Amino acid sequence: MACVGYGRAAMARLLDVILPPTCIACGGEIGSARGLCVPCWSGIRFLGSPACARCGLPFPYDAGADALCPVCIASTSAVDRLRAVFAYDDKSRGLIISFKHGDRLQGVPAFGDWLARAGTPLISAETVIVPVPLHWTRLFSRRYNQSALLCHALSAALARSGNTKVVVDLEVLIRRRRTRPQGQLGRLSRQENVRAAFAINPKATVKDKSFLLIDDVLTTGATVEECAQALKRAGAAKVDALTLARALR
Ligand SMILES: [Zn+2]
Ligand SMILES: [Zn+2]
Repeated sequence: MACVGYGRAAMARLLDVILPPTCIACGGEIGSARGLCVPCWSGIRFLGSPACARCGLPFPYDAGADALCPVCIASTSAVDRLRAVFAYDDKSRGLIISFKHGDRLQGVPAFGDWLARAGTPLISAETVIVPVPLHWTRLFSRRYNQSALLCHALSAALARSGNTKVVVDLEVLIRRRRTRPQGQLGRLSRQENVRAAFAINPKATVKDKSFLLIDDVLTTGATVEECAQALKRAGAAKVDALTLARALR
């Protein structure tokens, strides 16, 4: 497995820690398997089929493998396909917040397994996995980029299931300027906040490659859209996106 970028050894150490058999959401005992206890598991809304072929929005009935939701029919996007592991709601919020801000990383290997499962239709041997980058000032204050950590967890999960060809590259996208946290903003302000915030690393090769963007939460999609536009402008053949959680409209 090829791997490019900062903090590689530190990331590997984080993922190698021996994990106690406790629920990653509530801390309760769960026997030997890592992940969620039964009550927490049943509270999380995992996303799957039937869904919009492009954005992965769940459909109440099966409308066919190519069916699109009204938003995807009415709009264009630089993101070819979007998938997420679970719905971002009151039940799953704690899981994300503890991962994002609380430095609780024991859920990371389970997140990797879930991302691998949800991302199966998006991943081929040519896929380059890239994180939504964090500005270096925020990287400094938070100590790790949660999206980069998810990239490594996904790559480790794929390797466990025999896919050792997928590449993680942490240095394709650069965040040009520090933006305000998206959580504080409304839809239009979010688009404005991340406009032209991302650039391609001059050393990266993008042309004709297939990318899978990884982020922790998708709310309006403005951030992954900006990243995908930067990659497409640089000649990327395909840009898909995979997040742990997504808000449902
Ligand atoms: Zn639990
Ligand atoms: Zn859609």
